[in-house]
Amino acid sequence: MDIEVLTIGTELLLGFTLDTNAQVIGQTLSAVGVRIVRRTTVDDDPRRIREALERALAQTGAVLTTGGLGPTNDDITKSVVADLLECPLEFSSAVWNQIVSRFAQFGRTPSPTNRCQAEVPRGATVLPNPRGTAPGLWMEGPPGLIILLPGVPREMAGLLRDEVVPRLKRRSGETPILSLTVRTTGIPESRLAERVAGVEEQLPPLTLAYLPSLLGVDLRVTARALPEVDARRTLERAAALLESCVGHHAYGRDQDDLAAKVLATFAQSGRTLAVAESCTGGGLGWRLTEIAGASTVFLGGVVAYHNKAKSTLLDVPPSALETHGAVSSQVAEGMAIGVKNRFDSDVGLAITGVAGPSGGSPDRPVGTVWFAVANDDGVTSQVVQLAGNRHEIRIRSSQFALHLLLDSL
Ligand code: ATP
Ligand code: MG
Repeated sequence: MDIEVLTIGTELLLGFTLDTNAQVIGQTLSAVGVRIVRRTTVDDDPRRIREALERALAQTGAVLTTGGLGPTNDDITKSVVADLLECPLEFSSAVWNQIVSRFAQFGRTPSPTNRCQAEVPRGATVLPNPRGTAPGLWMEGPPGLIILLPGVPREMAGLLRDEVVPRLKRRSGETPILSLTVRTTGIPESRLAERVAGVEEQLPPLTLAYLPSLLGVDLRVTARALPEVDARRTLERAAALLESCVGHHAYGRDQDDLAAKVLATFAQSGRTLAVAESCTGGGLGWRLTEIAGASTVFLGGVVAYHNKAKSTLLDVPPSALETHGAVSSQVAEGMAIGVKNRFDSDVGLAITGVAGPSGGSPDRPVGTVWFAVANDDGVTSQVVQLAGNRHEIRIRSSQFALHLLLDSL
């Protein structure tokens, strides 16, 4: 089936808020074979919301909106729809009770302005929203299908997945567009393409896309117009083929995170980890501790930014810093050994580099980053030249370090 997406909010047009709802809706609906034929964004203006709804209903017959379901004056989507469909808003005590108990969870009571959130256009189906106060609404009538979801991305995504997708699937019964992503890191797009070239003729009817980011290059294979079971089997075969070409640069699928993979691999072998960070300033520790349960593997880290911190906190000999400079194999190795000893971990990892924009030199340009890994067998180090601005170099450094850790096991 075809549908239009209407995201509502002045902040979206002003550029203060990135329209991530449209992104999530696009991915989620195409995955179940619902085709988005047009996407519109309007500000919190009743006339423009109404025009956009009328046009979407006239041209496509189905529209999904996000935003403007809250209790404040700029939240008008519901009343515009009620007007358009000539369905009066009615107070729903069932919805009100849900709002009251939601507030009670946080030891609060709703204010009178929240009462409007319990108003429902006559005949609408309420889509319960356990993540917030504004429920979603599903309305089907002569002009077509209107689905209203709140603007808050987490609430929107939950309702979309739990309430909207199952209903749309029942309605449309079309073949889904399915994708599978092989995540790679530490290999540039062009080299990846050379490796993959050998299998590309085996991939059709799937299409292959290269999606580079700061974390690496994702290889996404997509199946269209195949029955779901065939699509999944074909995608799986293609992903395995790609993984075999890419070798150790492939670290996961879809949303897999390299930090989670590192922690899982360390946990399997019962090893512990500590990190010493200079140019990443704790970014690697942040990546690791984003993963729940990290403490079984990750003992901690030291942000040793100033040279003095490298020697006092990590026992890097001041002479090494003087002779070779902070960005050198000697200092990286000293930091890795130091942090391993201080935390008594099985593995110590160190990062020291020039993130820029200043501080580079002809022999150590911006983007020069040394990494070292210390374990009970000794210590090894390597240097890489990373591209990008300060932010990008710091993100890439953490990702490179994680990949190095994975390879070290
Ligand atoms: P609430 O009950 O919280 O008021 P609502 O349905 O009224 O929800 P809005 O007020 O429009 O939603 O938006 C709530 C929050 O969600 C705002 O911070 C807004 O910037 C954000 N938001 C709204 N629409 C989008 C969107 N399309 N993409 C990303 N964020 C969005
Ligand atoms: Mg609001």
